[in-house]
Amino acid sequence: MTTTPDAGLRQDRHLATEIPGPLSQALMARKDTAVARGVGTTMPVFAARAAGGVVEDVDGNVLIDLGSGIAVTTVGASAPRVVEAVEQQVREFTHTCFMVTPYEGYVAVAEQLNRLTPGTHEKRSVLFNSGAEAVENAVKIARAATGRSAVVAFDHAYHGRTNLTMALTAKAKPYKHGFGPFAPEVYRAPLSYPFRDGPDVDGGAAARRAIEVIEKQVGPENLAALVIEPIQGEGGFIVPAAGFLPALQEWCRDNGVVFIADEVQTGFARTGAMFASEHEGLVPDLLVSAKGIADGLPLAAVTGRAEIMDAAHAGGLGGTYGGNPLACAAALATIETITADGMIERAREIEALALARLERLRDADPRIGDVRGRGAMLAVELVDPATGAPDAELARSVAAAAHAQGVIVLVCGTYGNVLRFLPPLAISDAQLEDAFDVLAATFTELS
Ligand SMILES: *Cc1c(COP(=O)(O)O)cnc(C)c1O
Repeated sequence: MTTTPDAGLRQDRHLATEIPGPLSQALMARKDTAVARGVGTTMPVFAARAAGGVVEDVDGNVLIDLGSGIAVTTVGASAPRVVEAVEQQVREFTHTCFMVTPYEGYVAVAEQLNRLTPGTHEKRSVLFNSGAEAVENAVKIARAATGRSAVVAFDHAYHGRTNLTMALTAKAKPYKHGFGPFAPEVYRAPLSYPFRDGPDVDGGAAARRAIEVIEKQVGPENLAALVIEPIQGEGGFIVPAAGFLPALQEWCRDNGVVFIADEVQTGFARTGAMFASEHEGLVPDLLVSAKGIADGLPLAAVTGRAEIMDAAHAGGLGGTYGGNPLACAAALATIETITADGMIERAREIEALALARLERLRDADPRIGDVRGRGAMLAVELVDPATGAPDAELARSVAAAAHAQGVIVLVCGTYGNVLRFLPPLAISDAQLEDAFDVLAATFTELS
C-alpha cells in the first residue's frame, strides 16, 4: 500500500496563469448563473485535483493549501488509504441504509470513536452526515436524557447552519441574518477570550463569569446541555484560558447538565491530540465530531456516555444517509492513516514550525495583535496597533494577496480580522515555509 500522495501532482507552488485563470473565470461565470448566490466563494479558482499539501486548479496553478477545505482533509486530500478503501467499498455497495439492513463499517466506526474519544467509561456512538446535524442530535440526546430543554452556547460560537444550530451560533452576518425565527431555549454565556479579556481574567474567573450568567439567566434545573468548542473555529480560533473548560465541565457534573464538546473542527489530530479536549484533560459527556473524520466524505458523529446516549428511544435517532458505507470506509482509513503515519506528532511539528514563523512575524509587525492556536489549527488576530480595534480590512487584503500568490488561506472571527491556518497534516516543511514566506512578504507589502 502506497502512502505517498498522487504522484502525478507536483507538490511545489506553481503559478501557470494569473489567479483566477481563464478557465476558473469561465466556471465562475457559470456558477453565478447556476448556483444560488447564498453560497459564498473564498477563492474564485476551481479545483481539478488535490493531494498532499496542494490543490491544483483547472488552469494548472498549484496552490499551497493552508485550509484543508476547512479542516476536513486533515490527512491530505485523497489520502492513499482512503482512496483504496472507498474504491473497494463503492464496488461492494453504495447504500443500504443502516436502519434497514445494517453493515459492519458503521459499527466499526462507532467502536473506533468509542475507543478514541476521551474517557474509559462505556460509550455509544451514532453517525450523521454533517457537523450541524450531529450537533442538533447531541442536543436531542441531552434533552431526552435530562428531561430539560434549555441549552447554553457561548459568545463567538459556531455550530452550523440548520435552524437549531443557527440559534446556537453567535454571529448574525452571514450565518443568521434574515433566517429567523430561531429555535427557542438557547441561551448565550460569555467565553474566555484571553487576548480581549486581558491578564486579569484567568480561566477560573472567566468560568465564574459564565456560570453566574447561566445560574441567573437560565437556572441549572432547566438546563439540558452546555455546548462548547474546546477551541473556537469560525469565531476566531479562540483558545480559552487554562482552567476555563475544566471549571465548566465540573459545574456541569455538579448540576446534572450534559457537557457537549463540539469537536467538529478540532477533532481527529488537528490540534496535536486526537481530540482537543485532551489538552485540558476534559472528558465530555457527549463529543461531536465531523470535518476531519473521513477525509472529505460526508460523515459526522455523536459519541458519549452509554447511559446518556441510550436515553433516546429506538427509532428516535438516524437518517437515510447517516453513516453512509463509503464515508465509513473513508473514516476507518483516515483513522488508520492518523495512527500509522504519526499524524498527531506531525500536527505538533507543524505547530512548532508555524508558531515560530508567526511569532517572528508578530515581533516585526504591531498589527499582529495575537498569535494563537494548537497543532495545525493556528491563527493571527489583526488589529489597529494604536487602539487594538479589529482590522478586518487588513485580514481581507492579506488573504487576497496570498491567494494571488497561490496560497490558500482563510479568514474567520466575529470581527473578520483573524487569518487562520489549517494545513493538511500531509503538508511538507518546505511547503509550509514557502507559504509563510508569501505571507511575510504580503505583510511587508501591505505596510
Ligand atoms: C463546521 C462546523 C460545524 C458545522 O459542520 P457542518 O458539517 O458544516 O454542518 C459545527 N461546529 C463546528 C465547531 C464547526 O467548525
